[in-house]
Amino acid sequence: MSTQPTIKGWCPGAYKPMMSGDGLILRIRPRLARLTAKQALGMCDLAQQYGSGHIDLTNRANLQIRGIKEADHEALLEALNQLDLLDADPALEGRRNILVTPFYEAGDITERLATALTDALHKLPELPAKFGFAIDTGEAPLLADASADIRIERSELGLILRADGTDLGHETTEATAINDAIKLARWFANTRTLEQRRMAQITQQGVTAPRPPSEQPQPSLTATGALLGAAFGSLNAADLAALITTSQATALRTTPWRMFVLEGADMPTNSPFITEAHDPVLSAHACPGAPYCPSATVTTRPIASVLAKRNRVQVHVSGCSKGCAFSKPCALTYIGHDGYFDLVRDGCAWDAPVSRGQCASDVLRNPSPMRPSDNFLDG
Ligand code: SF4
Repeated sequence: MSTQPTIKGWCPGAYKPMMSGDGLILRIRPRLARLTAKQALGMCDLAQQYGSGHIDLTNRANLQIRGIKEADHEALLEALNQLDLLDADPALEGRRNILVTPFYEAGDITERLATALTDALHKLPELPAKFGFAIDTGEAPLLADASADIRIERSELGLILRADGTDLGHETTEATAINDAIKLARWFANTRTLEQRRMAQITQQGVTAPRPPSEQPQPSLTATGALLGAAFGSLNAADLAALITTSQATALRTTPWRMFVLEGADMPTNSPFITEAHDPVLSAHACPGAPYCPSATVTTRPIASVLAKRNRVQVHVSGCSKGCAFSKPCALTYIGHDGYFDLVRDGCAWDAPVSRGQCASDVLRNPSPMRPSDNFLDG
């Protein structure tokens, strides 16, 4: 039997951190997906001083400091405020779910629209906590697979506003795009039922197609700087600080692809982060697992790393059947259960397994459980 788990209806923010197995998780939403080098180095220091020394890069291009003691929350908030990484108003911070294409240039249309939307957040209606926007106005859409409910993109004729879940958008202009986005958000708020929390659950078809999407970027040297990957979105704060310093990057830009840009920096030759395009670990999924999440009874990421490199198929290792790290079907999904692993093929963590009860060493020792047709990463 397949039962999709209930999705929590709120997102942890800086002011409302979430308790996990290793302490509080505090989320920072970088404005314009960018921290100056000074802010990024300050965040790395704070992650080591108050947290476990690990920072998560989320699939909405946010950053999370992990492992914070409850007693340290206030001091950490104050320190983040000194770095100008907090919003003065917690309510507005909660609404600031704005993805931007990470390769924008200072003063270009992406920056102008994202700034205008940030300034207009107070005009939005009450929306579900995960409801968000994508300013995807580079040459071609890059964020089509990233989580957002209202998208501003380019068509062949100009800008469009596209409701997630539909192929076609409504034509708009730079002068009207933000008001149009607010109107669409109000329409959603007035139309949805209590169970409908995302735009894709309601039809709002337009008439104009966006430009064809670009392929997802890979670790490489880009015009903005070095684009590097972080396995499972986990950043060691000390390693990141050292890299920012030695590379003389002017800023850190975040992306929803478990990659980050070191603005103005060359690609490092020796890095603990992922520098090779199509590294199989970048396409593997694993939640933090044990001991970081209280629902997990197994370790996850070390196993997912080995399986991704060995099998060269998309692998998901989940600490439990909730499947937080990936909500789509995978060629191989291993799910922790009472300290052992169940295996689901071509399904999600909550689907019926084809085998049950393997211990970690068996999962790692077994020859590849894939079929020849699974090997899509080759070629
Ligand atoms: S999938 Fe389960 S174990 Fe992993 S983070 Fe989510 S709740 Fe925790």
